[in-house]
Amino acid sequence: MQAEPVLVAGLIEACRSAIAANTDHLCALDCAIGDGDHGINMQRGWEAVSAEAAALTGLPFPDAVERIGMTLVMNVGGAAGPLYGTLLIEIGRELRARDRTEDFPIVLKKAIDAVARRGRSHAGDKTLLDVLYPVQDALQKCSSLNDIAQQAEFSANLTAAMKAMRGRASYLGDRSIGHVDPGASSCALLTTAICRYLGE
Ligand code: ADP
Ligand code: MG
Ligand code: MG
Repeated sequence: MQAEPVLVAGLIEACRSAIAANTDHLCALDCAIGDGDHGINMQRGWEAVSAEAAALTGLPFPDAVERIGMTLVMNVGGAAGPLYGTLLIEIGRELRARDRTEDFPIVLKKAIDAVARRGRSHAGDKTLLDVLYPVQDALQKCSSLNDIAQQAEFSANLTAAMKAMRGRASYLGDRSIGHVDPGASSCALLTTAICRYLGE
């Protein structure tokens, strides 16, 4: 594992570039079942995080993760901002309380549960949770980085068969079926980018 400042900078750039390369794709997914802005929202958020990367790399790892979450809340907007923000803020806080690498699956579980509470949503509602929970499960089982990334992609695709129960897509009812959820897709993209970076 890399030294913390390098790790933080690398993770930020991995996430920023994954979203930047897929902004149009995420907007297209959101056009089908939402208002078409998910790619733009996420891009704005990660560009803002990237702009403060130099300051973040000076912080202890849990503090940096929490700050990334706050920046996402302030810059992503929409439904996704508070949800991704909650995820990162809670990961940061839980990490600070434990600070042992082997606890990370528990840390992630607690943070995902906080996202679910915030969104009043559950697994199966066709949201980013449908990627987060399977990723956590794979992590808990000590799967390889490659397998975790594959699980994320696979799980995002499974949302196509689901009926949206939360967010704008839920207004479509059954017509949301047949489309991949944009938030699930961005979550898979971020997971894959993080796994690839950590595997380098
Ligand atoms: P908005 O819908 O406000 O335009 P975005 O397009 O940026 O926001 O984000 C939409 C994504 O947010 C959805 O694809 C879904 O994954 C996620 N989402 C929306 N509402 C909820 C919720 N209540 N719980 C969990 N995830 C949600
Ligand atoms: Mg949208
Ligand atoms: Mg919107």
